[in-house]
Amino acid sequence: MDAVSDRRFQFTYNRDVRRRTLETRIVGLHERSGSLWAALEDTVFYPEGGGQPGDRGHLLAVLAGREESFAVIDARYRDNYVEHEIAAQDEERARALLKPDLSVVAEIDWERRFELMQQHSAEHLISGLVGQLHGWNNVGFHINEELMTLDFDGPLEADEIVDIEQRVQAAIYAERPVRILYHENDKDIPPYRAKIDIPGTLRIVEVPGIDRCACSGTHVGSTGEIGGLLITDAVRYKGGVRLTAIAGWRAARLSRAQLERERGLGALLSTPPGELVRAVAALLEKRDELIAEGNRLRQALTDEAIRHLPADGHELIWLELPQLDAVSLARAAENIAARGGRIGVATTELGEHRLLAARSAAADDGRELAELAAAMKRELGFRGGGRDGFLQGRLSAPREAVEHFFAVWDAER
Ligand SMILES: [Zn+2]
Repeated sequence: MDAVSDRRFQFTYNRDVRRRTLETRIVGLHERSGSLWAALEDTVFYPEGGGQPGDRGHLLAVLAGREESFAVIDARYRDNYVEHEIAAQDEERARALLKPDLSVVAEIDWERRFELMQQHSAEHLISGLVGQLHGWNNVGFHINEELMTLDFDGPLEADEIVDIEQRVQAAIYAERPVRILYHENDKDIPPYRAKIDIPGTLRIVEVPGIDRCACSGTHVGSTGEIGGLLITDAVRYKGGVRLTAIAGWRAARLSRAQLERERGLGALLSTPPGELVRAVAALLEKRDELIAEGNRLRQALTDEAIRHLPADGHELIWLELPQLDAVSLARAAENIAARGGRIGVATTELGEHRLLAARSAAADDGRELAELAAAMKRELGFRGGGRDGFLQGRLSAPREAVEHFFAVWDAER
């Protein structure tokens, strides 16, 4: 082992990233924010840091001749040791059975860890290439259970992102080694990426020709193990760009899910997956035609209903019309009043409400319309207003209440 001054670099998780189990002992048990954390003398669990989540897995112990297993859901580096968060369902048993000095086997969830290694190594390829080709720095990096985000301090165009993705893919196929190098940073060493000044020992992750970065994370041994990369999204972020990406198993799972989704859509539309975009565009065009046709028919029905209205100029006439927009509804109220009503009122259903437009043909300076608005506010939950003999808004009362209201309006006048 190299002479290394940083204690973190002496743990097995750091020196031997492919090790899945380790026999060790408990050095402390701590209650922290409602959880039990077990500190181990050494561990294969990566403690959260540098954008990479802490490992999950199990602690195994033989107690009174019985093997006991305790699920671990997170790991953090605290006070010179890695602490392992015991899962809630195992806490009570752990409090009763785990003691300092007890021998335990630490075992990580290797499949999850390997996936995280694939993501993290892919991040180094992306960041190294973006730095080389565009000069932008990686200023933020985070892996969660589904994806990773990478923040750069300069913009990238869509074609530049595709270019980066392809170059990363080529580096994956080239099976370049991913080397872990330890340096005392007072020595004269070649340039490397780092977000902060690091005192003491440097751990450099190097992919020859692509990237050198100070990093404590766990990485695959060869770029080939990354398997594949998809940059799935890019948004402007603090003057630069935030990329979302998935690598390895995650990219394979996404491709499978997308394939199934496309098959499902293709079956619904009786279209081969390659024709989906064209088929959906044709459907949308058809939908627009049907909407226009529906509007024409509703307008014709409205005109017809108004044509058959009585024309004596003495009544308030209310018509409930089929699904009209606000402009058509205002025109309908206008036409009802012009047809000979004292006041023309048109309403139409709009979700849980009713749109309303009213036009006064009476020569009373809008006095009755104002009274009508006040009464509708009280009795029909009317919200809206108007001027110059015109009123518009919406009603929240049910249809029967609206019908009753207009039926008695004239009778009480
Ligand atoms: Zn890293």
